[in-house]
Amino acid sequence: MYHQYMSKRVPFVAGNWKMNTTESEAIALASEVVASVVGMAVDVAVCVPFPHLSAVRAATRGSTVGVGAQDVHWEARGAYTGEVSVEALEDYCRYVIIGHSERRQYFGETDQSVQQKLAVVLASNLDPIMCIGETLDERRSGRVESVLERQLHGGLFGLEVSSRLTVAYEPVWAIGTGETATPADAQSACEYIRGVLSELSGDEAGRIRIQYGGSMNPGNAAELLACSDVDGGLIGGASLKADQFAAVVGAAAS
Ligand code: PEP
Repeated sequence: MYHQYMSKRVPFVAGNWKMNTTESEAIALASEVVASVVGMAVDVAVCVPFPHLSAVRAATRGSTVGVGAQDVHWEARGAYTGEVSVEALEDYCRYVIIGHSERRQYFGETDQSVQQKLAVVLASNLDPIMCIGETLDERRSGRVESVLERQLHGGLFGLEVSSRLTVAYEPVWAIGTGETATPADAQSACEYIRGVLSELSGDEAGRIRIQYGGSMNPGNAAELLACSDVDGGLIGGASLKADQFAAVVGAAAS
């Protein structure tokens, strides 16, 4: 059903550096990434800690590597100590991760707050990477699809969904654990996600990139990225080593 669009989806691989790197480490890592992905026909981004956005923007200027943040607040400005607004981010980056499972798990992020953030981001110059995925309990009890449906409908409620959106399918049990979904499980979840996106956005669903995330590394990237509905990866641990990250990007390019 979506084959007519498949060739038009340029793979998108993003690194999520999480709460890692000092400024000098961030500059060095970004510079290495820039050098090692030259010429690869893949959209690439590094999502870095807020304090390093400016330095990483400078280190990637003129390259094909985009810069992203890892979260954003839904209010434009005001008394929200510790939060960062869309207008502050717009000066520094193109992408922002929203609803990462670590934010859902440790910081009380909900489908409703994800929706509030997506609403302001889609109204801005930033492009969102929306994270969804089931826990191990949810998978074991056969609730993968109902969880994904709830997260997509809740997070995208009332929003005009366009291909500026990237969805990262990240099974929670695979994040940072060394466990990876099988290609068949990743494809089945990503195909299901595209089906829900199609209910929400019609043909646009064929243009939206769906990433797999969860212990993706140079050893398993090729078989995951070969799945027809997996359009790239959101990479945690392996994005902290430029050679590993570049190998994943290379797998997406081939
Ligand atoms: C992530 O944090 O989005 C992630 C996928 O992490 P890791 O690759 O380390 O599992």
